[in-house]
Amino acid sequence: MPKIKPLTIDGSTGEGGGQIVRSALTLSMLTGTPIQVRRIRAGRAKSGLMRQHLMCVQAAQAICNAEVSGAALGSDAFSFTPQAVRAGDYHFDIGSAGSTSLVLQTILPALLFAESQNANNQDADNKHSDASSTVTIIGGTHNPLAPTTDFLQHAFVPLLAKLGMQVEIECLQAGFAPIGGGAITARITPFLRRAGMPQFNLTERGALQSIVLCASVLNLDYSICTRELTSAKASLLEANIDEVLMNTQSKRLNGIGEGNTCFAIVTHQLGDKNESKTTAKTSNRTDTHQEVFSLLGEKRSLAENIGKRLAGHIRRYLYDTDALLDEYLTDQLLLPLALAGGGAFTARVMSEHSKTQAWLIAQFLPVEIRFDSSGDHGILVQVIC
Ligand code: ATP
Repeated sequence: MPKIKPLTIDGSTGEGGGQIVRSALTLSMLTGTPIQVRRIRAGRAKSGLMRQHLMCVQAAQAICNAEVSGAALGSDAFSFTPQAVRAGDYHFDIGSAGSTSLVLQTILPALLFAESQNANNQDADNKHSDASSTVTIIGGTHNPLAPTTDFLQHAFVPLLAKLGMQVEIECLQAGFAPIGGGAITARITPFLRRAGMPQFNLTERGALQSIVLCASVLNLDYSICTRELTSAKASLLEANIDEVLMNTQSKRLNGIGEGNTCFAIVTHQLGDKNESKTTAKTSNRTDTHQEVFSLLGEKRSLAENIGKRLAGHIRRYLYDTDALLDEYLTDQLLLPLALAGGGAFTARVMSEHSKTQAWLIAQFLPVEIRFDSSGDHGILVQVIC
């Protein structure tokens, strides 16, 4: 077979962070394109591959038996030549509190399209039939500036399900910095695009259905949860959010080390914006969108302040615009959406992460990603395949 010329990716483009490394690996595996990534994380104070990014390269290498050179801790360039992605049971240990979510997000899209381990012995129709994968990753489950496991479970996975991508994520053990030691397992079912599936459309926010406020502690005083939840709820009541729509939950996490997280699952119905709150509560509509806002407890921050800050994120989302997706889901949805055939959604903000992700996707796939801020529902994002 003729060799494909490697695609050079400049890691200093746009946001200039680890996301470029991860998404370049994902897209390289999905398209079979060899890549050379240069100037890695040049936009960061300490550039080059950190442990989490190196684990992403190694995990990608493991699932597609790629040829890799130059990837080591601190490297500012590496090359990666993929082969076919194989489904299977994989186990990765980051060896630090690095984010398990970010390692998973690197290989997850590729495993959704993987061939079964026995693909060589099967006809084309059966190549995907037993191509399920299980991935266990050891490291951090609750990291600052990365999706927590809760975010994956309650926001990212439900959104993938809307695209027809079936993934289940379990948190076996929680892991916070600096120790880590957390563990997640993901079960990934091969993606088969169903004929006649409607175009993905998440553009119009309907009635607010519920706000579930959650707090958890790992080997810390349980009263932290109550203080965070009481303060978050009080701040939402002050903003005239109906108490009937709110629920609180708290729990102790299993794991080594210590940590605290406080997050909210905010659920809106889709579509009919004029539906009253009472109807929203009592109807059985399953057509909803879930956003998750999360914070981690900090040594020098009072639990009450964490609760108040969480409520601030929710209030901004509810009242800033009418858009459905908040900042983080926006950049995380672009790649799966491009793989699933495109569609449209509304976003509250357009971050540098999202713009950089759109640029990177277009280096590999024949898609056009448009951002239009002229309407009155935030920013309309269209992924055209
Ligand atoms: P670097 O150290 O270079 O910044 P990184 O590998 O840690 O790199 P980024 O490139 O900054 O990460 O990408 C971070 C990712 O985490 C983005 O996809 C962003 O949407 C997501 N993210 C950040 N904070 C949150 C949060 N609070 N909730 C959900 N997702 C988040």
